[in-house]
Amino acid sequence: MVHGFETRAIHAGQEPDPRTGAVIPPIYATSTYAQDGVGGLREGYEYSRSANPTRVALEECLASLEGGSRGLAFASGMAAEDTLLRTVMGPGDHLVIPDDAYGGTYRLVSRVVERWGVSWTSAPVSDVDAVRAALRPETKVVWVETPTNPLLNIADVEMLADAAHEVGALLVVDNTFATPYLQQPLFLGADVVVHSTTKYCGGHSDVVGGALVVADDELGERLAFHQNAIGGVAGPFDAWLVLRGLKTLAVRMEKHCDNAERVVTALMEHPRVADVLYPGMRTHPGHHLARQQMHRFGGMVAFRVAGGEEAAVQVCDRAQVFTLGESLGGVESLIEHPGRMTHASAAGSPLEVPEDLVRLSVGIESIDDILIDLEQALQL
Ligand SMILES: *Cc1c(COP(=O)(O)O)cnc(C)c1O
Repeated sequence: MVHGFETRAIHAGQEPDPRTGAVIPPIYATSTYAQDGVGGLREGYEYSRSANPTRVALEECLASLEGGSRGLAFASGMAAEDTLLRTVMGPGDHLVIPDDAYGGTYRLVSRVVERWGVSWTSAPVSDVDAVRAALRPETKVVWVETPTNPLLNIADVEMLADAAHEVGALLVVDNTFATPYLQQPLFLGADVVVHSTTKYCGGHSDVVGGALVVADDELGERLAFHQNAIGGVAGPFDAWLVLRGLKTLAVRMEKHCDNAERVVTALMEHPRVADVLYPGMRTHPGHHLARQQMHRFGGMVAFRVAGGEEAAVQVCDRAQVFTLGESLGGVESLIEHPGRMTHASAAGSPLEVPEDLVRLSVGIESIDDILIDLEQALQL
C-alpha cells in the first residue's frame, strides 16, 4: 500500500530499531563497521563515506517523498550539484541554466564547471521557446528552478522535459523552493531533483545539507558511485536533523503558504511597493502553470521597493521580526537584498537581479507580528 505524503514523511526509511525498539533512527556516529570474517558485512555497511544507516534512512525518506527510486544525501546543496554535474557531464558537453539561477549554481557553472571544458548558456526558464533555442546537439543537462530564485518565475517542467529529451539531455529540477510537498518534478517528467535540504526540508536553519533524487535505477547507481568516489556526503548528525525536519514538512509548508499569502495581500496594497512577485497572484505570468504543477505557491515572496536600491536596503535594515540574513526555508522569517547579498556574485552578468528587489522567506510566526513588522519597515 502506498501511504500518503505526511505518513511517508514520518515513516519512510525509518522502521523502529529491531534491537531496542527506538522509534527514531539513531545517529550512527561511526566511520567503520565490524566485519564477520573478511568481507563479511552486516547489512552491507563497511565505511561511512559509502553508506551510513542514518544517512540511508534520510535517503530512503527523500526518495519516497519525491516519488523516486533512489535518494542521495550530501554535505550541502552545492556538493549535490557538483556531484551530479561530474556524473553526467564531461569536456565538450553543454548545459543550459536559468537566467536567474541561484547564485551558487551560477558560480559553480561559470567558475568551476566551465574550467573542465563544459560550455553553458543561460535562458529564461519560464520561456520554453527560449530554452529550446539554447539547446545544442551536445547539451547534456537542462537545469531548471521553479519557482526561480529570487524572481519566482515558473518553468513548465513537462514541456521542458520533452524539449531536453529530444536532444538526449537530462532535465534537472532544483526543487528547493517548492519542496516535494508542493511539487514533485519526477512525476512531471524530470530526470533528477536537486535539493538544498538546508532550506525547507531541514526547516529550522540549523543544518547545511543537499540531496539528489532520481527515478532511473541506472542513473541512481552512477550517482551513488560518484557520491562515494567524490565523498561530499552528509554526516550522520546532519542527516538526522534533516530527517527530523522532514517529519513536519507538510504542516510547516501549509503555514508558510498561509502566511506568504497574507504578506502578498498586504504588499500589493502598499504605496511604497512597486511590484510584488509571487506565483499565487492571478497577475503573475506563471500563475496558471503554477496552479497545475504545484499544490500551493510556497513561502517565498519578492517585491520591488519604490525609491530604488537605497530604499530596498533600508527596508531590509529596518525589519525586526524578519531577521536580515541569507538562506531561506526556516521557521523564522528572513529578509534580504539579493543584489548585495545572495546574488552579489551575479553582478554585471546576464543573471544580475533588479537593485530595488527585496526577498522574503516568510516564516511561521504569528501573522500579525509579521505584517506589523513589514509595515514599520516600509515606513518612510
Ligand atoms: C541554498 C540553495 C542551493 C545551495 O544549497 P547549499 O545547501 O547552500 O549548498 C541551491 N539551490 C537553491 C535554490 C538554494 O536556495
